[in-house]
Amino acid sequence: MPWKGVKDPYKIWLSEVMLQQTRVEQGMGYYSRFLERFPTVDILAKSPDNQVFKLWEGLGYYSRCRNLIATAQKVSFELGGRFPNTREGLLSLKGVGPYTAAAIGSFAFGLPLAVVDGNVFRVLARIFGIHEPIDQPKGKKMLESLAQELLDEKNSAIYNQAIMDFGAVVCKPQQPLCKGCPFQKKCIANQQSFQAVLPRKSKKTKIRNRYMYYLQLESKGKQLVRERAGKDIWQGLFEFILLEHDEPLDEKYLHTLSHWGIKTTKLKKEMLGLSEEIVHQLSHQKIHCRILRVNIDQQIDLEGYQWKSKTAIRQLPFPRLITRYLGW
Ligand code: SF4
Repeated sequence: MPWKGVKDPYKIWLSEVMLQQTRVEQGMGYYSRFLERFPTVDILAKSPDNQVFKLWEGLGYYSRCRNLIATAQKVSFELGGRFPNTREGLLSLKGVGPYTAAAIGSFAFGLPLAVVDGNVFRVLARIFGIHEPIDQPKGKKMLESLAQELLDEKNSAIYNQAIMDFGAVVCKPQQPLCKGCPFQKKCIANQQSFQAVLPRKSKKTKIRNRYMYYLQLESKGKQLVRERAGKDIWQGLFEFILLEHDEPLDEKYLHTLSHWGIKTTKLKKEMLGLSEEIVHQLSHQKIHCRILRVNIDQQIDLEGYQWKSKTAIRQLPFPRLITRYLGW
């Protein structure tokens, strides 16, 4: 992995932010493209938000991208382009929690901070036979203290990298390689055959279903789009005209343009098609989406939306669900 052994806090921060809730294989391409386009934190800080979001497009969890921009601007404009080299300083950056602070602190500055990610939780819970659920404050605290206690403070970077790699390669979530594992004899999970149940989690994530319908309204080579605002998902990304409902809507209902806030009296319209349902799974939400494409003969005004050419639209960042539909 290109960020391994790296000591540049900018690159470590970038890789850590990108890999939160993202598979390594998926994050790797984004990491390389970001570094190519924004080789330093100053260049990232001075780039227009839309450009940063555009490059982030498809990686999901867009609040990470907003925090990335805010932190780049703070480091560049307020801290002279240098990342803080203390735990407190790192924690004052947006989107940097204890885990990321420990990763930057130990890998870039050699601070004696234990990095505790999912791999570390698993390794420690199994070796020490800890049954406290790791998604509860008590279990989390217990394992974090243990990780800090075990840390080789003089070699925090290599220690942290080693335990995370050990969890990823040997003490894997499924079928850990216990035969030949150096902890085979000491490991409580191995002695008591608890590998499959440790670490424990207490709750199942509740999934909320959302039914989002988009109207891709076209007229004279342009389409109506808006930037998403508010505290919801995809803030800062663009979208077509949205109609959201708690339950699935009937096709006939969607075909009536007044339901989308459009007065139809003097408009000539042509229905160009309605997509099949596109299902998009987020961590706590399942989005059910259909997109209706309609052409009208006038570029009407619709509050909050703007007409944009297809070329301009191609430059804007959209949620993965829409780019999949557009075939980008
Ligand atoms: S013996 Fe098995 S469960 Fe225990 S640390 Fe080694 S790989 Fe993990």
